[in-house]
Amino acid sequence: MSENYYRKDIEDLPDFKVENIKATLKLDQNEYPEKLPKYLRNKIFHSLKNKYTENRYPQPIDYLNKKKKISEFLGISEKNLIFTMGADQGILATMIISGKKVKIFTPTYPIPENDAKILSKELSIEALKYENDFVLSKEQIGKNLDLIYLVSPNSPVGNIIDDELVEYVCKNNQLVVIDEAYFEYSNKTYIELLKKHENLIIIRTFSKACGLAGYRFGYVFANEKIISLMEKVLFVPYNLGLCHYAIMDNFSEIFTLGMERGKIVQKIRDEFYLFLKKNSFKSYKSYGNFLFFEASRKLYDELLSKGIKTRYYHIESKDFIRISIGTKKEMDQLKKELKGK
Ligand code: PMP
Repeated sequence: MSENYYRKDIEDLPDFKVENIKATLKLDQNEYPEKLPKYLRNKIFHSLKNKYTENRYPQPIDYLNKKKKISEFLGISEKNLIFTMGADQGILATMIISGKKVKIFTPTYPIPENDAKILSKELSIEALKYENDFVLSKEQIGKNLDLIYLVSPNSPVGNIIDDELVEYVCKNNQLVVIDEAYFEYSNKTYIELLKKHENLIIIRTFSKACGLAGYRFGYVFANEKIISLMEKVLFVPYNLGLCHYAIMDNFSEIFTLGMERGKIVQKIRDEFYLFLKKNSFKSYKSYGNFLFFEASRKLYDELLSKGIKTRYYHIESKDFIRISIGTKKEMDQLKKELKGK
């Protein structure tokens, strides 16, 4: 068989790599460090066990009923809401419905760049600058793009974007995606701007503060037309499985738990930020469940050799580490490793 049957540009995409080392302290993927409370885990399992039969496809009417209930809880119209297999599927769908001229600002969450390389006709990647503390500036935005992908709080740095800047982006471009994967840690959402800007799309996930990374559950808010296009692309409700349905049955409780946990993590994060400063690390103020600071590759390797998984970044010839915020006990353990470094 000839090798012309596949796209060479896909072959050239970087492989997904994670260090294959058993972690004693897993601080590399911004997950929530603890399992769900037992009663809520049991409620999800109970739904899965008693409400559904695996030989049947998820039924559209069941999906619509759940969506109605959840949109009432969230205080938005059901026409402005879609559920996805993780935020990643929501991001992918936005790239499919638009995907002509796409712009992304780095450093940021890498999957959208991957999606855009596969799906967009023209991708521009603009580097956020060290000298500006990696804060997005108005001059960098650009105009007349078909899709701009923004994250707030942005990973890995942790900063948030002003409403004013978001409005400027919306006024000058077509689709504007704001990834709010970490919104529970920031006391900030752009949901109010949906009323003013029909091109705004807000992406959310239960993988972070809600602690359900393993379930791959996300949701998206947008204008009715955008949601209907995304539904066509994903062939809703067949993009989801019964585990997602069991999550939907318990949506309000999981959401509320995520908001509470967000507050707990903020305290631990801000305390750790002060610790980093005291120990002479150049750390960035973060609104997410992670902290980003300048540190050598050697320190990253040392931590890894002790089973402490973090993320290493090399930007503008400088080295950085991003740590996810774990439990208080875990952060105390990390403090011991970082003291005097
Ligand atoms: N958006 C951002 C900014 C992320 O950091 C991540 C995961 N690390 C995701 C989306 C992926 O979310 P999900 O697990 O729901 O696909």
